[in-house]
Amino acid sequence: QITVGVLALQGGVIEHISLLQKAATQLSSQSTESPTPTPQFTFIQVRTTAQLSQCDALILPGGESTTMAIVARRLGLLDPLREFVKVQRKPTWGTCAGLVMLASAASATKQGGQELIGGLDVKVLRNRYGTQIQSFVGDLRLPFLEEEKPFRGVFIRAPVVEEIITSSSSASEKQRAEQVEILGTYPKPQGTGKGEDIVAVRQGNVFGTSFHPELTDDVRIHVWWLKQVVEELRSGRGEGVQLQS
Ligand code: GLN
Repeated sequence: QITVGVLALQGGVIEHISLLQKAATQLSSQSTESPTPTPQFTFIQVRTTAQLSQCDALILPGGESTTMAIVARRLGLLDPLREFVKVQRKPTWGTCAGLVMLASAASATKQGGQELIGGLDVKVLRNRYGTQIQSFVGDLRLPFLEEEKPFRGVFIRAPVVEEIITSSSSASEKQRAEQVEILGTYPKPQGTGKGEDIVAVRQGNVFGTSFHPELTDDVRIHVWWLKQVVEELRSGRGEGVQLQS
């Protein structure tokens, strides 16, 4: 039995839960012949510390990260979220504003900045592609899906990872142990330099995407992530995380 929460302060909550449900159905139908059947999943909305403490894994949805941080602070959730991600090191995935929250630094924020949860040793650039009307859908090649078929990336006021933080002198324990892996890139928009922007990363238990898989009906990333969750919980990484089957 695995409980996966979606932080439900603001943003695309229902969309994640509905895609998670589809993903879980797909996983359980795939695993009927497997020697280690997929556990049962429960998906819950998280608005309180009590709900957070029931979760084995968590999604931080898209929305607006400054608002999300303010509401989380008011509800006394910010420090418990930091504990969940960085001390208990439970599997956590942030999409768009959720990725911003999971970064250790964000640029293009107002003076004084905004509160972040952290967990990914990266600096993100918020609103990289401009305002709401510059939203777009772009085909992504995501090698971790192990399929040729591109993934339709929905980018809405999306951030990108502009820097991976690897300062050796102040390296955190996590930086030394687990590197940031780049799991997806997208060509930089015209006039903003050559090469590709980083739009999907993972560092240990933390996964982040710039785009919104929950706004498509493509269940592949949710299926992949739930498999990662099962593996991480089975391997017993992190503190106080146990999988009861
Ligand atoms: N630009 C928003 C932020 O910085 C994120 C947008 C989104 O989640 N679609 O929080």
